[in-house]
Amino acid sequence: MNALPLLLDQPVSAWGLPPDQPYREKQIRTWVLQRFVSSYEEMTDLSLPLRTSLASRFRLRAAEPVTIQGSEDTTRKFLWKLGDGSYVESVLIPATQGLEGNRSSRLTLCVSSQVGCAYGCRFCASGIDGWRRNLTAAEIIGQVLEASRIAGRRPDNLVFMGMGEPLANLPNLLPALDLLISPSNLGMGARHVTISTSGLAPQIEELAYHPLQFRLALSLHAASDAIRDKIMPVNKRYPLDRLLEACDVFVRAKKKQIFFEYILLAGINDSPEQATLLAQHARRLFAKVNLIPYNKVEGLPYERPSEEAIHLFCRTLLKAGVRATIRREKGHDIDAACGQLRLRQEMKQPEPT
Ligand code: SF4
Repeated sequence: MNALPLLLDQPVSAWGLPPDQPYREKQIRTWVLQRFVSSYEEMTDLSLPLRTSLASRFRLRAAEPVTIQGSEDTTRKFLWKLGDGSYVESVLIPATQGLEGNRSSRLTLCVSSQVGCAYGCRFCASGIDGWRRNLTAAEIIGQVLEASRIAGRRPDNLVFMGMGEPLANLPNLLPALDLLISPSNLGMGARHVTISTSGLAPQIEELAYHPLQFRLALSLHAASDAIRDKIMPVNKRYPLDRLLEACDVFVRAKKKQIFFEYILLAGINDSPEQATLLAQHARRLFAKVNLIPYNKVEGLPYERPSEEAIHLFCRTLLKAGVRATIRREKGHDIDAACGQLRLRQEMKQPEPT
């Protein structure tokens, strides 16, 4: 069965609506994209036969919440169940901006792009069980609509940094983004969408020539091949020289700053030498560096560096003229490392026979 949200990007003739009732399209769009309803029964200005007909042909929800951790004014983490019984996660992060008296609260949603992940970064919970499948465009959109329903409004920013490697699922990600960005649909600005990658160089180049102005975040996590090879197997396929060349192409084509994401792992990638090398890469690409002190993942051997080591690393970058910030994950207490909620849920499931 097709998912209704996907139809919103198609001519209304594809919806099978009565031809003499063009206003129905607007009503349905409003229910799905502004009121984020979770059932056809809630579309009270549609006739019962039309609701029944839509329900028999189009699934309204592609992701349903199983657990929600956190509260309204803090980071909230959602575990979604998909149509085939798989689980993925999203995280909704509030940030208050502006001066006193003029404060606004912005919402950022971190979205998953695959069930599991094939890239096996050693420090990440999402890759522990390997890759199961790509999310469909409807399932990507479904996370945004469901989170919007729970929050009471759509997020201001989307970051594709949840479970999976987004650039390995471009055939589903790009149609989903077209719909989320289209002003007649959810109207997210492309500039408010950040796509992260563990380092798929050819797809970075493909994205460089995409007409929309997405932001790119490179999950670098080590500044030399010797260390990156050890913690990110993707580096063997696209070593740093090749990867940074692809980033050059992106920066030249888009004329936009890119971001380096760098998880700090004690004794692995937090040395002054790594900081110096990282500064060289960042200066070459005018990249901003987000340092992320590691959140312990149960069963993995990595540790968070001391506060002193974290600040020393950051100071080295700043002294070298690089824009760098230490990002404190808001959600230590709610399994904030991506993939942990899903692993726990799957451990509760009976073994397949
Ligand atoms: S960090 Fe990203 S690319 Fe690496 S295993 Fe985790 S989800 Fe996959």
